[in-house]
Amino acid sequence: MEQIISSQRNFFNTHQTKDLAFRVAQLDKLSQLLKTNQEALDEAIYADFKKSKFENSVTEMALLFNDIEEAKKKIWKWARKQKVKTNLTNFPAKSYIISEPLGVCLVIGAWNYPYQLSLAPVIAAIAAGNTIILKPSELPSRTSAIMAKLINNNFDSSFLKVIEGGVDETTELLKQKFDKIFFTGSTKVGKIIYKAAAENLTPVTLEMGGKSPTFVTEDANLKMTVKRLVWAKFLNAGQTCIAPDYIMVDKKIENKFIEILKAEISEADYSFENGNYLQIINEDNFERLASMINQDNVCFGGSLKKSERYIQPTVLKDVTFEDDVMQEEIFGPILPVIPYNTIDEAITKVNSLTRPLSCYVFTSSSKIKKKIFKEISFGGGAVNEAVMHITNPHLPFGGVGHSGMGNYHGKAGFDTFTHYKSILDKPTWLELPLKYGPYSEMKLKFLRWVMKF
Ligand code: NAD
Repeated sequence: MEQIISSQRNFFNTHQTKDLAFRVAQLDKLSQLLKTNQEALDEAIYADFKKSKFENSVTEMALLFNDIEEAKKKIWKWARKQKVKTNLTNFPAKSYIISEPLGVCLVIGAWNYPYQLSLAPVIAAIAAGNTIILKPSELPSRTSAIMAKLINNNFDSSFLKVIEGGVDETTELLKQKFDKIFFTGSTKVGKIIYKAAAENLTPVTLEMGGKSPTFVTEDANLKMTVKRLVWAKFLNAGQTCIAPDYIMVDKKIENKFIEILKAEISEADYSFENGNYLQIINEDNFERLASMINQDNVCFGGSLKKSERYIQPTVLKDVTFEDDVMQEEIFGPILPVIPYNTIDEAITKVNSLTRPLSCYVFTSSSKIKKKIFKEISFGGGAVNEAVMHITNPHLPFGGVGHSGMGNYHGKAGFDTFTHYKSILDKPTWLELPLKYGPYSEMKLKFLRWVMKF
């Protein structure tokens, strides 16, 4: 590891990555690799947790190709020297901001969208001109292996290298000095990363999770609400960091909402055979989720097959904030529905938990929408939609508080891996004597007049 990091540092110091044409060429190479190996990439992810070709294309590859194309198109603008105004105190001078890559970066991926969550930060880091070590999650072992094989066989390791492994390898990596660590994963491990980064004062971006609430108000378009909600919740078998974790529904429409919800899930027919349902990633997560299902609360689903790591889309009713399922992020196909009497009461309950990564509001009331956005702090979200905000590269993506710090996607990703160097550039033909001694009352008066205080 030390050798790879040192060779990356040496390569970074040659300044080759600062050349925009070099960055575009690397992005092209990555894009080409993903395209020509599509079949192998599909097979690996299917073998890991039965993610179908369709879902791999839509929820992983499409986002990566979009990110690459967006970066290639905009990099010239993003990396350009930005001129800014100069204040009177510094007259005569020019002021500008130069974007500079941070250096040697470590990207640590999570398992649930293994290609997207590993490679999207890598794309942003390449666009910004860094060298990168990628440590994908070890849980989907075939996707980790294929990313390592494709990248390590095709990129110079002093520019981009995949190091596979779990806790031991990551712990070892964290002992090294990086110029940036970009982590996606749980809040628990995020704290470990943050502590290790502090040793070297390494800046971090932490993309973590939480319990993302969803509000359904009395006046919501229920048919459309349920259609979009069901898709967002059971996509990837609920193993999505921005999936609606639980529903806060107006008590007046609770029963009607649940009936439409049940009908919609039945109609969607979630099964491995249809290619629209996934296995739970491993036995530990299967057991964790199984223990959250209190059969007394099940109003839809609830069946499990351990041998296949299958958990049926499950809706829980009469849930309270004291129940097990409300004590941690679910991260699986279990959807608790909690009725509320007033929106104030619902907001207070949501605010009793840590700040979530996402929040969704299904409503026709702009008053309620504004109230929720004003009174609840969360990473990002949507109105009358769920999950899809992640697909808009113009929306920076990231959490707040326990759900994360920093953000990425599109220009925000470029910024995350960039240092903006501020420069005051002054000619020598004029120098006012004001700032030099000897100081005098007159100088002070003049300065105060200029500075307006
Ligand atoms: P995790 O924290 O267990 O693992 C994430 C990464 O950290 C993996 O690469 C793993 O190898 C490494 N790791 C695990 N334990 C470690 C340790 N003790 N020391 C050092 N490294 C360690 O998370 P996960 O199970 O892969 O992902 C699930 C979590 O990630 C959920 O909370 C989810 O909400 C969150 N998530 C967030 C986003 C986002 O974009 N904000 C996206 C996906 C997942």
